[in-house]
Amino acid sequence: MHYLYKITNLLDQKVYIGQTNSNNRWRQHKYNAKNPERTHQYIHRAMAKYKIENFIYEVIATCMTQEDANEIESILIKQYNSKNKNFGYNLTIGSDYGGHSEETREKLRKLMFNRLATKGHPSLGQKRTPEQKENISKGRREHPVIYTPEIRKRISESQSKRIYTPEEIDKRNKAVREAYNKIQEIRSKDPELKCHAPDCNIRGIQDYLIVDNIRYCEKHGQRLKRLGSLDSKYVLADGTKVAHNKTKFTNEQILSISNDLRPLEHIAKDYKVSQNVIVRIKKEVGTYKKSNKKPNTKFSSEQIQNIVLDNRSMKAIARFYGVTDKVIKRIKLLNKKLP
Ligand SMILES: [Zn+2]
Repeated sequence: MHYLYKITNLLDQKVYIGQTNSNNRWRQHKYNAKNPERTHQYIHRAMAKYKIENFIYEVIATCMTQEDANEIESILIKQYNSKNKNFGYNLTIGSDYGGHSEETREKLRKLMFNRLATKGHPSLGQKRTPEQKENISKGRREHPVIYTPEIRKRISESQSKRIYTPEEIDKRNKAVREAYNKIQEIRSKDPELKCHAPDCNIRGIQDYLIVDNIRYCEKHGQRLKRLGSLDSKYVLADGTKVAHNKTKFTNEQILSISNDLRPLEHIAKDYKVSQNVIVRIKKEVGTYKKSNKKPNTKFSSEQIQNIVLDNRSMKAIARFYGVTDKVIKRIKLLNKKLP
């Protein structure tokens, strides 16, 4: 497998496009950056000058053959204009890359598998400062990874050229599953892998929500996002607590809510109540309009029941039915009281 990767300088968004069939390429780059006298590449001198932690390494495409990798690399270098010193660090418009022998590649594959199985994915647990995160998202906004139709076509062509036998597919799936299970086992022992709401016992492998960089279970995360508080009760000025859906509104507030045409989510957030409260108010006043979205007719009622009763994670169910987890979430929410 040939990987095309992009190194981005987070400080000025300049990029370097490269290709490799090694899993250690980023380490090699970092090594070269620490010994810039050994290399004549701009990228290493830049990494030495601006500090390695201000650069990110991302694999942006994979190819089956060397020729495809060369071609797509050239397209990417053109697309990012990275041979232009103002935009990037590439020295040539394409690769002068020499491939590894099949033996070396097999060794690298084994190394990667062991690495995945014992330490998890290279990016797992990598901590980035808020500043770096902001730089990354800024970079993505301004320089999104653009797969032009041309590149997409080339990538899918290059990936479909190799036909795997059922045994090979089995073997690959088994290896991936083993590595995945091992990672999950290691992760489940991570003391940070828990809901950080006080008195919440949820921990281990779960679907979590990250709010303000803190990990919460679905319930607490949603509540915090919706109500701005982990407490399900709303504290009144005199200190008494009432449930959020029992919050009293003044007539003025009710009028303004009923005439508010923004999405329910936004109104609910403003008043720190659930969307149901807003729906109820709008229904009472008579200004509630059902969303124009078409109901999801893809699932039979039997399937919907199965989905509602399915205890696996949303992601697992979504994968099973080949839909996004949003769809599953929606079905579960809408059909909770099905007999
Ligand atoms: Zn919780």
